[in-house]
Amino acid sequence: MKNTGVIFLLTIIQLCNGGLSAQEKHISKAQQPKVLIGLVVDQMRWDYLYRFQHHYGNGGFKRLMTEGFNYENAFIPYASSVTATGHASIYTGAYPFFHGIVGNEWVDRTTGKYVYCTDDSTVVGVGGTSKQGMMSPANLLSTTIGDELKFSNNFQSRIFGISLKDRGGIFPAGRTGDAAYWLEDSSGNWITSTWYMDQLPVWVRNFNERRTIDSMMREGWNLAKPVSAYQLYRSDENDFEVPISQSNTTHFPHQLNSFIRKNYNPFRSTPMGNTFTLNFAKSLIKEEQLGKGDFTDILCISLSSTDYIGHKFGTHSLEIEDTYIRLDADLAAFLLFLDESIGKGNYTLFLSADHGAPPSPDFLKTKKVNAGNINNYALTRVIASHLEKKFGVAGLVTHYFDYQFYLNTALIKSKGLKRSDVSKAIIDYLNEKPEVEMAFDYADFNTTILPQSVRDMFAKGYHPKRSGDIQVILQP
Ligand SMILES: [Zn+2]
Repeated sequence: MKNTGVIFLLTIIQLCNGGLSAQEKHISKAQQPKVLIGLVVDQMRWDYLYRFQHHYGNGGFKRLMTEGFNYENAFIPYASSVTATGHASIYTGAYPFFHGIVGNEWVDRTTGKYVYCTDDSTVVGVGGTSKQGMMSPANLLSTTIGDELKFSNNFQSRIFGISLKDRGGIFPAGRTGDAAYWLEDSSGNWITSTWYMDQLPVWVRNFNERRTIDSMMREGWNLAKPVSAYQLYRSDENDFEVPISQSNTTHFPHQLNSFIRKNYNPFRSTPMGNTFTLNFAKSLIKEEQLGKGDFTDILCISLSSTDYIGHKFGTHSLEIEDTYIRLDADLAAFLLFLDESIGKGNYTLFLSADHGAPPSPDFLKTKKVNAGNINNYALTRVIASHLEKKFGVAGLVTHYFDYQFYLNTALIKSKGLKRSDVSKAIIDYLNEKPEVEMAFDYADFNTTILPQSVRDMFAKGYHPKRSGDIQVILQP
């Protein structure tokens, strides 16, 4: 299955303006919220609002839907949709052609070098010791809503981003953000980088030292309700799921004890990751005194665990259903906290996904749906060896990311080959594969027959200095 191809945006905005007249609203500063809270739920499908609604209480998702606005058909059309691109698009309001975040990773077409979206060799981690700290928004090319807010008031607003994933906190906070924090796998600590500061604030150090992450891992992950309360699309033990670590099983309970003080990566794939992130958000609001100044502050929160769990267990698993039961309760508690700490009516909150997800292809196949898996590494190797046989040169293709092949244009040139011949050899090969709907070269974009809406998405998702050469479109 390919990605949905567009960023799926579920946007709920809670606006509280009080009883001002239209004219007063226009001129009064009171119209501005004290704090804007952005809540991105990574990989949240729109239908989860309804599929799991019978589980939800009145204070979480249902409160947002009844007290706020629910934009049921809001999305920014571009291809393809992954976490870094989604977060950059939500907060810049732009698409990859402008903001440059074409994927979680890409190749810099000027240097030919591999780039991870938030890599920055000019900074070092703060609060941690691993390479996971060498991150910044340096690759983000356009401004975010937070950057623009700071430009509007001489940098009086304060902007923060937090997420277990580096890219989920860094891009939303923009290039002028006061801080972004993300999780270090080796320590289980919230870390940042020298892009923002030289040492962690005392409150972050204190939060890390409390080791609440260890207590959560000691408890492990079991179902919140009796198993009969769940939808049970399939048994808990099945062939469609991947355990949270190699030493775990795919069924409940999911034990995490053995990872404490060793490896916190498995923690990401549990709903406690969301709870932990929201607890950190509460501390940040309190300790940084958000909303206490004269200008609107912004806190960008991204809940990553929903995505890790979706990838491992799928959209129709017990795990994802349990995750949203728990997230709804966490959300209700967080909204109550905001009511009490910032004040009901003093904050605006929006909730969105960065992208959606299809059900597991193997699960779909059992229901006779046209679906299948493609091994990206195997496909890249096959294409590379096909080209080597045909042209007698190894390494003509360097990478395959997000359904795009990158040609080694320098090598093609130095070997006296024609770029169009190499490109045609790849496209002809791909077009013979039944799982490929079509492949095209961006050099021939204007003469490639595509539905206008699809053409539009590829054009908006393309960045000439970062995107690949050959686009692959898989069967639906
Ligand atoms: Zn994502």
